Amino acid sequence: MSEYDFDLFIIGAGSGGVRAARIAASHGARVGICEESRVGGTCVIRGCVPKKLLVYASHFAEDFEDARGFGWETGEPRFSWPDLIRAKDREIDRLNRVYLGLLSGSGVELINGRGAFIDPHTVQIGERTVTAESILIATGGTPWVPEIPGIEHAITSNEAFDLAELPGRVAIVGGGFIACEFAGIFNGLGADVTQVYRGDAVLRGFDQDVRRVVSEELVKKGIDLKLESDIARIDKQESGLTLTFKDGETLDVDQVMYATGRVPLVRDLGLRDIGLEVRADGRVVVDDFSQTSIEHIYAVGDVTSRVNLTPVALYEGHSFADTVFGGKTRPVNHEYVPSAVFSQPPVGTVGYSEEEAITHIGPIDVYLSEFRPMKHTLSGRDEKTMMKLIVERESQKVVGIHIVGLDAPEIVQGFAVAVKSGLTKERFDCTIGIHPTAAEELVTMRSPARSHG
Ligand code: NDP
Repeated sequence: MSEYDFDLFIIGAGSGGVRAARIAASHGARVGICEESRVGGTCVIRGCVPKKLLVYASHFAEDFEDARGFGWETGEPRFSWPDLIRAKDREIDRLNRVYLGLLSGSGVELINGRGAFIDPHTVQIGERTVTAESILIATGGTPWVPEIPGIEHAITSNEAFDLAELPGRVAIVGGGFIACEFAGIFNGLGADVTQVYRGDAVLRGFDQDVRRVVSEELVKKGIDLKLESDIARIDKQESGLTLTFKDGETLDVDQVMYATGRVPLVRDLGLRDIGLEVRADGRVVVDDFSQTSIEHIYAVGDVTSRVNLTPVALYEGHSFADTVFGGKTRPVNHEYVPSAVFSQPPVGTVGYSEEEAITHIGPIDVYLSEFRPMKHTLSGRDEKTMMKLIVERESQKVVGIHIVGLDAPEIVQGFAVAVKSGLTKERFDCTIGIHPTAAEELVTMRSPARSHG
């Protein structure tokens, strides 16, 4: 019998922590986990899941309009924000219960409260102190906002899910995942949306055609996209807020939401006190096995800021538990991680962007197609689909796929298997398309739009 209370103790019961707990327990480890908020973490409670429910809700506005092109006559649709939030909360409660059931069903002990290191084998949670042979840090991340006058009047995505009412006028600051997704949500639900971004096209780091098309489509949907623009101060008024931009211009809104990035949640964890290596921005430094600078302490998910996506945290947590408790050595591989932005229309992407491929791959051919999706021939909606393949010339391997358009995330999830498997353009070409779909375009693009190198 070990001298410790647990073989493994986990700080944080989000996606990565819960997965690691269940897998380690299935390998016979005695596992404890603590959580200061609700089990499920950012993704389930205040991230991916409620976000996607809100995206569905907001898209109905267009669906009602589009239906007319197909012969439907609909009355004037009415929307209730409180009804939506109640329905969303019921679903989150259900998922929270599922997660609690997963932990108890695996024999994992859950302790409610915030954990902090007392020494490298000891964690304190409120009044309770536990010891463990191995410890996993899975505390995730938290929104970061710049310090400008009046920033206390701003909300982040954390609060956006629980607003008492839908703001009539809302400004969203940022051009990343969260900003683009929430601009679409609030716009679809009927708010006047201004998106404020300091760069020249949203989604920095994505392929240039993705950035161009998403920026164009956001504007077509009616979002006032202010590029190369930033807010200098926020002043509270009797009703609403006044935003003053750096160029002196002002804008009155009911809410301003900052989506200016997230940082690892390591505050008060005591990491530096126990001598654990942490970067200046809070990132816990780990190796390919998620091992930190202290041999028996590991970290997975957003707190390590490798690739901050739920499925990556799940994979890292699973690999860690298999390696340390299951006798299977599973390093984490972050190559060709597909991802999506649930903007409207959404983005699906895997592999190298055109710019990255020019730098890191060498000579490439770029296949590009932009078209009006079939649905919109009758709906009349001016929304396009963009599809793009990046092919390494010498090996003919497809090293990148980028799509903006209806169902892009669903399409890319399937095609990501081909890219991860290193399939060549010839394998794509000899695959028969499914007609009529948008995705068939990916197996029928014949001539490069441009070549580099
Ligand atoms: P991102 O890092 O994607 O975007 C942050 C945005 O804020 C950028 O546009 C950035 O501009 C801007 N910004 C940063 N600092 C400032 C500043 N001081 N003033 C003005 N603007 C600023 O972060 P998000 O908050 O959108 O999302 C966090 C992470 O969560 C993502 O990286 C992603 O990993 C994950 N996520 C994934 C989702 C998905 O998979 N669908 C959905 C939501 C989140 P610039 O580009 O110029 O740096």
